Amino acid sequence: MRPAVLNPVFAQVDSLTGVGPKIARPLERLGLTRVRDVLYHLPERYVHRRAVAVLDEARVGEQIVVTLSIGAHRAPASRRAPLRIAARDDEGDHCDLVYFGKAAFAARKLLPEGSRRTIAGRLDRFGQTLQIVHPDHVFDAQAQITDRIEPVYALAEGLTQPRIAALVAQSLERAPDLPEWIEPGLRAARAWPSWLDALRQAHGGEEEAARNRLAYDELLANALALALVRSDRRRRACRPLAGDGRLRAALRLPYALTAAQVRSIAEIDADLRQATPMLRLLQGDVGSGKTVVALHAMLAAVEAGAQAALLAPTELLARQHADTLTRLAAPTGINVALLTGRDKGRVREAKLMGLMDGSIQLLIGTHAIFQDAVAYRNLGLVVIDEQHRFGVAQRLMLASKGERAPHTLAMTATPIPRSLTLAQYGEMDVSRLDERPPGRQPIDTRVTSLERIEDVIDGLSRHVAGGAQAYWVCPMVRADESVDSDIAAAEARFAALRSRFGDAVVMVHGQMASEDRDAAMERFARGEAAVLVATTVIEVGVDVPNATLMIVEQAERFGLAQLHQLRGRVGRGSGRSTCLLLRGSSLSDTARERLALLRSSQDGFHLAEEDLRLRGGGELMGTRQSGEAAFRIASLEQVQRLLPVAHDDALLLMERDGGLNSPRGQAARTLLYLMERDWGVQLLRGG
Ligand code: ADP
Ligand code: MG
Repeated sequence: MRPAVLNPVFAQVDSLTGVGPKIARPLERLGLTRVRDVLYHLPERYVHRRAVAVLDEARVGEQIVVTLSIGAHRAPASRRAPLRIAARDDEGDHCDLVYFGKAAFAARKLLPEGSRRTIAGRLDRFGQTLQIVHPDHVFDAQAQITDRIEPVYALAEGLTQPRIAALVAQSLERAPDLPEWIEPGLRAARAWPSWLDALRQAHGGEEEAARNRLAYDELLANALALALVRSDRRRRACRPLAGDGRLRAALRLPYALTAAQVRSIAEIDADLRQATPMLRLLQGDVGSGKTVVALHAMLAAVEAGAQAALLAPTELLARQHADTLTRLAAPTGINVALLTGRDKGRVREAKLMGLMDGSIQLLIGTHAIFQDAVAYRNLGLVVIDEQHRFGVAQRLMLASKGERAPHTLAMTATPIPRSLTLAQYGEMDVSRLDERPPGRQPIDTRVTSLERIEDVIDGLSRHVAGGAQAYWVCPMVRADESVDSDIAAAEARFAALRSRFGDAVVMVHGQMASEDRDAAMERFARGEAAVLVATTVIEVGVDVPNATLMIVEQAERFGLAQLHQLRGRVGRGSGRSTCLLLRGSSLSDTARERLALLRSSQDGFHLAEEDLRLRGGGELMGTRQSGEAAFRIASLEQVQRLLPVAHDDALLLMERDGGLNSPRGQAARTLLYLMERDWGVQLLRGG
C-alpha cells in the first residue's frame, strides 16, 4: 500500500485549481497526469531576466521585465499580420507589443488601452521600432520589479510558460516534506538539499545540487527495487537442475563451441544446480551464438526431468527459433513444440495437453506461452530472448509462474556499456559472449552520399539479379510525422523500388497490423521477396542468411548501437556481406565520427562504449527504446556518475535492513512508491 503521506502528490492533475479538460489534455500529452509528474517536470533551461526601469537600459535581444503604459491597439492589416499594441515606458520611449494569430484575442483583454502593465519578454527591433513579440508574462503593474531567473518548460500545444509555472507553484505548495531516504552521511558530504527543497530549487534555477539529488533519488529507487528482486529470488525455493549430459552428448553440432560459449554454459550449469533460482543475462552481439548456449541450458533442464520454455518477442522470431531448435535437438529425441497466439482449437488443445502431461519437453513461443490457461507439468527453466523488450515488472511476472520459481536465462543482443548494465539488469548475473564464432567474414561497411542513389539502386539491381536478398532501411514511416520534410519515407521508397522491381519488394513498418507485417517478413524469410523495405522494426533477431546487403538510408539519423544492430542482420551466411550507409549532405561532427567508427569496428561492446562517449550527456539509442535504462530524471552523465553510488547504497541498506523496517527503510519504501517501483516493495514479506 502506498504510504498516505504520498496522497497529495499522487492526486490527479485536475485536482489542481484551474485545470479543466482543456488543459488536462495537453498536460497528458506531456505525460503529466498526477501532481507528482508536474513536480518532476523540471525546466529544460532557465532565462535570466533583467529588470529595467526604462527601455533605454536594455539591449536589443535581451530578456527583460519592464513596466509600460499601454496605448492604442492597431488591428492586423491582413489575416497573416499581427496585432500591434503601442506601449511607452516612463520616459516616453516607444515599444510595440506584438501578437500573432489566436494569441491576439487574449492580448486584447489583457492589455486594455490606458492600463499600466509589467511585461516580461525579449526586446527586439523591427525596422526602427522596438518591439516585444508574444511577451512571456504580463503582470499587473508592480511597484517593485527585480531581476529574476525564470524556468523554461517543455510545452505542448494549449499550454504556456506562465500556465505551467503556475501549476508547478501550486504543486510545490501541496507537496509535503517527505522522510529522508538518503543516507545522512552521503547527503551531508554532497551538500544535497532535502527532497522538497531540491524540487523548489530545481524549478527556481538553483540547479546543480538539487538536480543531482533528484537524479540520485531515481537511481536509488531503481537500484533498491532490483536489489529487492534479487533478495526475493534468493528466498524462493526451486528445483536444482543437474543434467547428466546424456542429451547434450547426442547433439551433432557442425562446429565446435567457442571458448566464450563454453564458459557461459559452465556459468549457467553452476546456477542451475542451486536450489535458488538462476537469474542470469546472456549478453552477446548479433551472431555471437546465443541460441546454442540456450539450447545447452534447456537440455540440462530436460536431462534433470524438467520442462524448458523459450520466450521470443515476436511470432516470427518464435518460429525461427522453433525451426532451429527442432533441427538441432532432433538427434536427442526430445519433443519440441511451438505455441503462439495463432494456435487455435484442437491444435492448441493438444499442445496444452502435452505441456500438462509433460510429453512436450521444450516449448518455444511468444508471450502466449505464459497465459493463465497454459499449465506446465514441471517448468524448470525459462529462457527469454531479446530481454530488453520485457520490463522488469514483466520479468517478475514470468518468474512467478508456478509454485516454485523457475530458473531464468535472459538473452540480449543490445550492446550495453558496462556502466549501464547495472541500471538495466542490476538484479541479474551476467554472462558475456565476447567472442565471435570463427570463420565469420567481416561485413564490408561503406558510406555513400545519398546523391548517388541511382548508382545504389543499380547496384541493388545487380545484387538481386544474382539471386541474393537485401534490406533497405528508412528512418521514418511518413514524411509528415516529422517537421523535417527531407526525412526519407519508407512508403515513398517502397513505392519507388516497387516501380522498378515489382512485387519482389515487400515492406514492414511499425504502423502496420502485425499480421501484415508477419506476412511480409515471412515472404522475405522464405526468399519469395528479394528486397525488404523497413523501418527499424527488423532490428531484432531476424535471421535470413541469403540477405547479404544492408542499405541504410539517412544513416546519420540512427544511433551507433542501432546501426550496428541493423548491420548484424547481414553477414549470417558464408558469403561476403555489405552494409551501405547512405548519408545526407550535411553531417554533424558526431554523425561523421559515428559512421567512421562503424566502418572501423564490428564489435558491439566496443561500439556501445564509444557510443556512450560520443553522446556524453545525451541519450543512448538502444536504451531509450528498451524503456528501462531511460531514466526520467537522471541524465546519462548522472547515471554514470551516481549509479554506482546508489547501487552500493541500496545493497548496504538491504544488508542492514532487508525488510525495510527501520526509519530509513520506511523512507525508502516511500521513495519506491514515489518512483513507481511498487513492484519492488511488493516483494517484501508483508510489504
Ligand atoms: P545470436 O547470438 O545472434 O542469437 P545465433 O545463435 O543465431 O546468434 O548464431 C548465429 C550463427 O552462428 C548461427 O548460424 C549458428 O549456427 C552459428 N554458430 C553458433 N555458434 C557457433 C560456433 N561456435 N561456431 C560456428 N558457428 C556458430
Ligand atoms: Mg538470436
